[in-house]
Amino acid sequence: MAENNESLMQRREQAVPRGVGQIHPVFIEHAENATIVDVEGRQYIDFAGGIAVLNTGHRHPKVIDAVKRQLELYTHTCFQVVAYEPYVELCERINALVPGDFAKKTLLVTTGSEALENAVKIARAATGRAGVIAFAGGYHGRTMMTLAMTGKVMPYASGMGLMPGGVFRARFPDALHGVSEDDAIDSIEQIFKNDAEPRDIAALVVEPVQGEGGFRVASPQFMQRLRALCDLHGILLIADEVQTGAGRTGSFFAMEQMGVTADLTTFAKSVAGGFPLAGVCGRTELMDAIAPGGLGGTYAGNPVSCAAALAVLDVFEEENLLARARTLGDMLTSRLRQLAESDKRIAEVRGLGAMVAFELMKPDGAPDPELASRLVMRAREKQLLLLSCGQYANVIRILVPLTATDAEVEEGMAIMAGCL
Ligand code: PLP
Repeated sequence: MAENNESLMQRREQAVPRGVGQIHPVFIEHAENATIVDVEGRQYIDFAGGIAVLNTGHRHPKVIDAVKRQLELYTHTCFQVVAYEPYVELCERINALVPGDFAKKTLLVTTGSEALENAVKIARAATGRAGVIAFAGGYHGRTMMTLAMTGKVMPYASGMGLMPGGVFRARFPDALHGVSEDDAIDSIEQIFKNDAEPRDIAALVVEPVQGEGGFRVASPQFMQRLRALCDLHGILLIADEVQTGAGRTGSFFAMEQMGVTADLTTFAKSVAGGFPLAGVCGRTELMDAIAPGGLGGTYAGNPVSCAAALAVLDVFEEENLLARARTLGDMLTSRLRQLAESDKRIAEVRGLGAMVAFELMKPDGAPDPELASRLVMRAREKQLLLLSCGQYANVIRILVPLTATDAEVEEGMAIMAGCL
């Protein structure tokens, strides 16, 4: 048998900086759809989805086939040096999927953080302004600019000193913790009053459902108010759909359900079924604001990842996964609401489509991160992989592949209920 988890953990501790967190002390041997098998042969149901990357499951056969075909042709040329069709075709298909009845273009990069960096660069070039408004609880990545936009310092920016300037923080609506939509809009007005004039703000960046921030869902009305504020002041609206995109919420992009369009939309994670790919899609005139050579990167839009993403889009159509996200979401939500009826530590069940989470509180109403962390650990012992999130790390989020069977989902839910 291969080395066991414990000895691999010891090697990991010697070789990898402690800043690279690892939630589960498990080393994977192989995986398929919603199942991970570790190096000791233990099987886990995967409700973590590699942090929202596996909407089409581990190693979807269609994705694997497309990748193999691409590997037989070429693996890299750098799009800026010698272009290739899968990049262009993927951009065409993303342009058609991003909500908005206007001409669009798409830039492909490699990670969600890069997508956000580039969205801000494009917004700055297009408006001639530098400021950005971002939300408390928002998460946009681990590069310096995206860390500055991220509304949670611990642990992401801890010990790193000053972040790039020009980012102003608004409040995000959260009824459970006493922040109304009016409070959130008012916090933006306060920024305009006290910190920066609207004419200095290039963009407002928002996750339609905050991911790392605890699956907090923006209402369509709130998004419409943001859109109106942006229009009033000539500020660009960036929808960060890195976690909400690629069908998780029951529409390919969550903004479809919000009744507003963004000027720039970022995506990543599940779009390429486990291969590194991300991008920014936006109005043509904005996307063309940066001079040739100003966008891109050596590996940006790698052809193997593009082939994987094209297969993911086909799988969504062939397997009707948007409808599946909605029914799965209903199933998860009703199961969790049943649990919440008898377990008062579950203060709220919320989500959009199959992006579902629940928040754990103590009897005195304080967030309960210890309970969340014990639940994650207990569930792992029972062979279910879970993830927590949220401002207070007291939210359990469910990111099971949309391709998981009802039986697998029920089994995972039963384990979780038992652990609670
Ligand atoms: N934006 C959102 C909403 C995210 O959830 C994430 C990652 O979790 C990012 C950006 C950063 O993506 P990446 O980790 O691929 O850089």
